Amino acid sequence: MNQDHSSCYAPIMPITPRPSLVFERGQGSYLFDGEDRRYLDWVQGWAVNCLGHSPAAVAEALNRQANTLINPSPAFYNRPALELATLLTKNSVFDEVFFANSGAEANEGAIKLARRWGQKHKNGAYQIITMKNAFHGRTLATMSASGKPGWDRLFAPQVDGFPKALLNDVDSVRALVGPETAAVMFEPVQGEAGVIPATPAFVQEIAALCKQERLLLIVDEVQTGCGRTGTLFAYEQFGVEPDIMTLGKGIGGGTPLSALLARREISCFDPGDQGGTFCGNPLICAVGLAVMQALLAPEFLPRVRETGLYFAERLTSLSNGLGLGEVRGNGLLLALELGRECAYDAVIRARKAGLLLNAPRAHSLRFMPALNSTHEEIDEGIRILDDVLSEILAEEATADVP
Ligand SMILES: *Cc1c(COP(=O)(O)O)cnc(C)c1O
Repeated sequence: MNQDHSSCYAPIMPITPRPSLVFERGQGSYLFDGEDRRYLDWVQGWAVNCLGHSPAAVAEALNRQANTLINPSPAFYNRPALELATLLTKNSVFDEVFFANSGAEANEGAIKLARRWGQKHKNGAYQIITMKNAFHGRTLATMSASGKPGWDRLFAPQVDGFPKALLNDVDSVRALVGPETAAVMFEPVQGEAGVIPATPAFVQEIAALCKQERLLLIVDEVQTGCGRTGTLFAYEQFGVEPDIMTLGKGIGGGTPLSALLARREISCFDPGDQGGTFCGNPLICAVGLAVMQALLAPEFLPRVRETGLYFAERLTSLSNGLGLGEVRGNGLLLALELGRECAYDAVIRARKAGLLLNAPRAHSLRFMPALNSTHEEIDEGIRILDDVLSEILAEEATADVP
């Protein structure tokens, strides 16, 4: 059972350095490897398992729908897609939904919709102002929309039309607005950049600027949506009404589902403009429906907010105790600034100690636990994290002694 599954030998493209572990099963906040070792999981499939690993609601929905109807083709309506779209529009400022399979695909759709709107209603305007350090996906267009350092040269030439502004700097956005501008697109919290929240003032001023200049406001809520930041959608916390929103990650509870939502006034695809073989298939929409129903249960989101505050408090006292940096984020999308470049080392040591973590940058850790995590689970993870970081700091202190 102790085979080496390292990516060098596996017939799987080595697109990321993987440990030689193979996870066999998951349950709630925990993953189990081939030797049945238990790991507390604060990555949760990259913030996708909002209800934890293999939740009964998701397994049951998949089972029931698999036995009923898997895919009649995107050219026909199906019940789960209709019901999920109804639930999403009833609980947001949007009126219409296009379902897709990944966050990048939903964002591609948002970009296409904004360009189509520019063609039809704004003299061919096609530019979408996006932010430095933003992450919108890994297709060519969404990589071009992203502001990840180095991505402007990787796979050059880029898709044209994504001038970059700075998050939380309204003037940097205003300076880029011109006759070709169709939209402004941003993440309410830049997740991949290291959990950098947009400020309320920035979001409100951008919304006002969009109104004044007749630009579409696009929020990429692939990471922040579906309860992750404590409200159903993060835009609610700013008192603004975007024109377009994208969802992914959490909406599928771990299965591949994403969505592009738009307000009726600007929703302007003609038949044939947009589509996809698997888009809106009932198998996965049934899961999305089960996830949304769980998130909309009256006690669910208040509990995410409470758990998020508890987690942030525990992180803050850990950070104060060890003399580390800032704790950032909303709800259960949090980050700890380490003040030194030991995050990758911390991830490896934590894994050996039974805690799965993510380091978005060399100096910060990101936490994306299941939204239904308990205080006991948080306490357990904080204990392991405290041990691991104390050990790193102790070694650092010894190394500093001349
Ligand atoms: C993860 C992410 C994406 C890309 O989603 P995929 O499903 O990996 O294509 C896009 N935008 C944001 C904000 C994300 O966090």
